[in-house]
Amino acid sequence: GKTETLLEVNNIEVIYNHVILVLKGVSLNVPKGGITALLGGNGAGKTTTLKAISNLLHSERGEVTKGSILYRGEKVQSLDPSALVKKGVIQVMEGRHCFEHLTVEENLLTGAYTRTDKGQVAVDLDMVYTYFPRLKERRRSQAGYTSGGEQQMCAIGRALMSKPETILLDEPSMGLAPQLVEQIFEIVKAVNEKEGVTFLLAEQNTNVALRYAHYGYILESGRVVMDGPAKELRENPDVKEFYLGMS
Ligand code: ATP
Repeated sequence: GKTETLLEVNNIEVIYNHVILVLKGVSLNVPKGGITALLGGNGAGKTTTLKAISNLLHSERGEVTKGSILYRGEKVQSLDPSALVKKGVIQVMEGRHCFEHLTVEENLLTGAYTRTDKGQVAVDLDMVYTYFPRLKERRRSQAGYTSGGEQQMCAIGRALMSKPETILLDEPSMGLAPQLVEQIFEIVKAVNEKEGVTFLLAEQNTNVALRYAHYGYILESGRVVMDGPAKELRENPDVKEFYLGMS
């Protein structure tokens, strides 16, 4: 059967400060149940694309000036981020991980604030701890005193607490040791397979992203220059040469 498209980005243009054109017509499709990777080097426009989707550009003086963004076929461009969360889309932002002064568990619980089924919250906390045993060990610790890896886990765990259909994950590998990166991606894969959560992830680490994603888009200077099934991208000579560091 045909896979349902959850998120559809059609030819969007993004301008910062009224003059700096950063996205020059980006289109992508995120199918339900998949892991889609948004790849490209520093400054290619990955974060901007995610922020355009979750309508977080205003605080950066950025705006979508062309194109459209649809979730389940519905325009979501003018929705505020919390309305998007209610639709099941949540963004895990790069770097900005947890509330430092709250404990790990309090952080996780903040992820459930929009939910009406409060009775389920304890069940989902257990679910998060099953994926992230390390967070359970650290649950009473103040988040600001946990490691970078634990904070990344905490941010993903908090997102899971909102019972999302789709997670927009920005640069999960950033600043983490290779072994930890692998661990985080293994968890993303498990959450995708077992909970059915759809992922759109922005990643500079092409190698790891293409091993876990099903489909990839490569951005260069605000344009999609290549896209395809992850398997094909991994075998593509240009991708190998320019993004995987081998030829
Ligand atoms: P990174 O991995 O560094 O996050 P990226 O692919 O996510 O890279 P973006 O952060 O989306 O790239 O940035 C794309 C371009 O937009 C860059 O040239 C950046 O300098 C520019 N840019 C980002 N934010 C702003 C802003 N608030 N005002 C002006 N220009 C910006």
